[in-house]
Amino acid sequence: MSIFDALESNVQCYARHFPVVFERAAGWCLYDSDGRAYLDFLAGAGSLNYGHNHPVPKQALLDYIAADGITHSLDLHTEAKAAFLEAFREHILAPRGLDYVLQFTGPTGANAVEAALKIARKVTGRHTVVAFTNGFHGVTMGAAAATGNRHHRDGCALPLIGVARAPFCGYLGDDVDTLALLDKMIEDPSSGLDHPAAVIVETVQGEGGLNTASTPWLRRLQALCRKHGMLLIVDDIQAGCGRTGRFFSFEAAGIEPDIVTLSKSLSGFGLPFAVTLIKPEHDCWAPGEHNGTFRGNNHAFVTARACIEHFWRDDRFEREVRDKARHLNERLRSICRRAPERLEPVGRGMMQGIDCGDGALAERICRHAFEQGLIVETSGSRGQVVKCLAPLTIEDEALDEGLSILARSVERALDRGLRQAS
Ligand SMILES: *Cc1c(COP(=O)(O)O)cnc(C)c1O
Repeated sequence: MSIFDALESNVQCYARHFPVVFERAAGWCLYDSDGRAYLDFLAGAGSLNYGHNHPVPKQALLDYIAADGITHSLDLHTEAKAAFLEAFREHILAPRGLDYVLQFTGPTGANAVEAALKIARKVTGRHTVVAFTNGFHGVTMGAAAATGNRHHRDGCALPLIGVARAPFCGYLGDDVDTLALLDKMIEDPSSGLDHPAAVIVETVQGEGGLNTASTPWLRRLQALCRKHGMLLIVDDIQAGCGRTGRFFSFEAAGIEPDIVTLSKSLSGFGLPFAVTLIKPEHDCWAPGEHNGTFRGNNHAFVTARACIEHFWRDDRFEREVRDKARHLNERLRSICRRAPERLEPVGRGMMQGIDCGDGALAERICRHAFEQGLIVETSGSRGQVVKCLAPLTIEDEALDEGLSILARSVERALDRGLRQAS
């Protein structure tokens, strides 16, 4: 019996699908202890947008540690934090005309979501937050209340409160305006919906199956929030940090949320790190009111700053990501054409995949892919979507190689032989 099976809780999850022991990683490749290479289209569930061990943040961190830089901090002022804040202001907020204060929460996405929900309730004095079907916001109690997935909700074993559900963009088909329903329910004093403090939304639902909110829908959601005095929270934990081809996933829609959560790829190096961005006028916390020992992570400040200065000082990287995303979209479309009645391309930017209609087919595809050296996972309410989350830095050749493996895996899973996709 392996040490993992002997000692690790049954709650372990990803490892079940990729039953090898990984030893090292670079860029978009993982290597197991037998030296076998795997292309990584999982990228730490979206926490490695710049790939594994990118040399720029790695060197910055090595230098910082060698110079005895502060490792631990409560929310003390450190040089590393100052440098991160400067870089974030100069290269992320200022060029986009955005004005936020940063709340350093505990280092996971769920922590940032908890803080966002709390402050929205505190600002408005209301308790209900509207979250959307198939949304995923983490599994701590407050965040899990906003998460749709029954598997995760049931794991809480207590009533989840303070969240009302509304249908996401396109949930009832392209012809049904889901926001008209929400608007009417807020206006109707006997709809049963308490006046919400806020709505929390992903522009692309990462865990929920790569459902995308359209630009008009997001704009109307923002208008609805303003009309009813609700705060707009965009959970950009997975879709942010460049994943959709801009730093923030909501930029393309031209909206300006009141609160934004970031985590996953924020450190740029896979280190735990999360922030909640709050419009200054809503920053009504009393000092220490939302507390925690690990608020900020100095090593992550160092790597995040290095990545921001390297990738985000101009728009070159963004344009490269969008080019790659177009190519990815073409290849996925071509794969789906093999079985148009069953397969549909979904998602946006470098957050795209194949909706297989059912979880069994998607799982078979991922299993075949792994046998051929490609790590890729499913998402969606029934695990029906094969989700490609390749590092944004991946070279075209490696992206194509991974997509060719995916194409072969789809063929095999559909029992259509091994014809190689073009
Ligand atoms: C992953 C994720 C979270 C939760 O982050 P954790 O670090 O797993 O707590 C929240 N929201 C979204 C959109 C996510 O993808």
